[in-house]
Amino acid sequence: MIRWKLIKETAGRVLGELKISTPPIELDEVLKREGVALTSAPADERISGFLLRRVGEAPVIGFNASLPSFRQRFIIAHELGHLLLHNKTGLHVDRSLVRLEHREKSDPADEDEVEANRFAAELLMPEEFIRGDLDGNGRAAVEQGEVIGHLAQKYGVSKQAMTIRLTSLGLIQM
Ligand SMILES: [Zn+2]
Repeated sequence: MIRWKLIKETAGRVLGELKISTPPIELDEVLKREGVALTSAPADERISGFLLRRVGEAPVIGFNASLPSFRQRFIIAHELGHLLLHNKTGLHVDRSLVRLEHREKSDPADEDEVEANRFAAELLMPEEFIRGDLDGNGRAAVEQGEVIGHLAQKYGVSKQAMTIRLTSLGLIQM
């Protein structure tokens, strides 16, 4: 079972604690607050990032520095999701998150990944912020193709990630 409500609440708590009310979400602040050490290195594009948790030590999030910055942001947010939602210690390596970004449902083995992706979406593209950028009818004043690009840039995410987010919020139809 994907814990949609818990995920939304957890992301909302993080934003609330830091009094973040405008995009783009400053992940540095979130990492500092959660006591996470951030590291990066250029790597093969099939590697996205990792979370390393060892008892008694600060958690470490790593990301592939070869990827575009919006991908890096999504990966960091995804690893934060694992940190805040899942209790596993040790090293967790993520590969090819791109495909997973598309998924809303999948088999139980992938549930942690779906949850971490949803957390990343809730953190980087909070529903209230997005709705605030649209009119009362849930529509933007510009053409759909333009608004996705505009919002993606404003929130520091890929157009793909923004499209999925708007779709899951029922604001656009694929
Ligand atoms: Zn993951």
